[in-house]
Amino acid sequence: MGYHPDPLAFCCRKCGLLHNYTDVDDFIKTTPAKKKEMNCKSVGGGRHDWLQLDVVFAHWSGNYAPLYPEYPCSCGNNEFYLRRSTTGVFSDWDFKCTSCPSKREITRRDKETKDLLEEKLQQGIPHQVKEWLMLPISYRGSSLYYVQTDRFIHILMLPYLNYCSPIDTWN
Ligand SMILES: [Zn+2]
Ligand SMILES: [Zn+2]
Repeated sequence: MGYHPDPLAFCCRKCGLLHNYTDVDDFIKTTPAKKKEMNCKSVGGGRHDWLQLDVVFAHWSGNYAPLYPEYPCSCGNNEFYLRRSTTGVFSDWDFKCTSCPSKREITRRDKETKDLLEEKLQQGIPHQVKEWLMLPISYRGSSLYYVQTDRFIHILMLPYLNYCSPIDTWN
């Protein structure tokens, strides 16, 4: 059985810079260099203090995605700071471009739902755009969260899913 840490969105605890690894190979290959980068824009500067984000985008259909903007900034840059409010309310958080003053709300579209509902909207069946929006949730506050040393466990080999069935099916 294989598993990997997920999601792979990290945030610097000092300056709020976000980094989203594309996959586990990317994480393994580039983490040593990332830890050595000395361009933290916090008051003390120096190295970033990377921490896996415990907030993900979730959609009511069950899909989830790393907390990272869906598309680059209008200036072309694709690096963002995560600005968390002190109120603890997600609607007060935003993404801020690292190279221009643009900021963006913390939301993204759930692609599968968007494709499905867009088709229905075109047919004149009433739906609302907000139905395909994903919203941030803290997965530590979720009943799905059960941690040993990892976060989500993504089972990669489908045949082993049988072992997750009730015990009598093993015989
Ligand atoms: Zn930093
Ligand atoms: Zn920008």
